Amino acid sequence: MVALGLLASGRFSLKPGPSMSAQRTVRRAISCAGIGLHSGRKVTLSLRPAPADFGIRFRRSDLGGVEVPAKAHHVGGINYATGLSRDAVRVDTVEHLLAALVSLGIDNATVELNSPEVPIMDGSAAPFVYLIQEAGVKRLDAPRSYLKVHRPISLTRGDKRIAIYPSDHFKVTYSIAFDHPLLRHQSRTIRLTADAFVDEIAPARTFTFLKEVEMLRQQGLALGGSLENAIVIGDTGVLNNALRFDDEFVRHKILDVIGDMALVGHPMIGHLVAHRGGHALHTAFAAHVLEERDAWTLVENTGDAATSDDTATVPVPGAAGAT
Ligand SMILES: [Zn+2]
Repeated sequence: MVALGLLASGRFSLKPGPSMSAQRTVRRAISCAGIGLHSGRKVTLSLRPAPADFGIRFRRSDLGGVEVPAKAHHVGGINYATGLSRDAVRVDTVEHLLAALVSLGIDNATVELNSPEVPIMDGSAAPFVYLIQEAGVKRLDAPRSYLKVHRPISLTRGDKRIAIYPSDHFKVTYSIAFDHPLLRHQSRTIRLTADAFVDEIAPARTFTFLKEVEMLRQQGLALGGSLENAIVIGDTGVLNNALRFDDEFVRHKILDVIGDMALVGHPMIGHLVAHRGGHALHTAFAAHVLEERDAWTLVENTGDAATSDDTATVPVPGAAGAT
């Protein structure tokens, strides 16, 4: 009876069925180096394979290998980026890497860092997409659980609002409004697949206002920031040569919310709608969703071809020598 119960729960099923998705990890370890946006410190990041049900965990090799799981209850310190902490050990600016991992279907991995902050790279998730593609993707013999939303969940703070509604797919609608002529209002809806993320969201860079840069630096933030890793918006235009998309700003907000909601610990099936959010609202919402246990169930069968293994397969380009 025990064995039957375990089989029924899916934990010991031999292989995920055709309508289910298998958990995944990276095929091999891979590294990159960069600097922390806020700390300005050099950092080496290594992405390593992990077994089924391990989740995503950050590991501080400079602190004896202490691990900080990428889970909502480890959120600690939101300073223009999302930080995690466990027993006074911190990992900062996790959101762009988490967005790439969850969007490319990596459920399990160790992210090893020799410094407290994930490298900012070019301010987008595109370098992390490249890293994952170079590592390759390995399917594990365990089914993936999706968090499927059955009734709306929402969180409002002042004029900032975020909610998730039942849907057959994972979709994100984001709208932003700033007191600046370049981005008074931008809004975009996207149905997330691996391909849509890679093409339309991952390349969007983080942005800041020139008038905020000095204030951030006085707070000891953005010490590694430059036009190489952030869009800087002046009074009349961007200081960078060009934008990657006309609405790169709202696309980056979608990237941020995908990364922050990865802290739920399961890919979600629902329509996420956010207005004027930021990391504090996103991460509070990730924790709130987990508390609203009667609003969702964990399912292994999405009933949606677009989230099956076949359509979300990550292309693995020929080895280009990245390490
Ligand atoms: Zn960001």
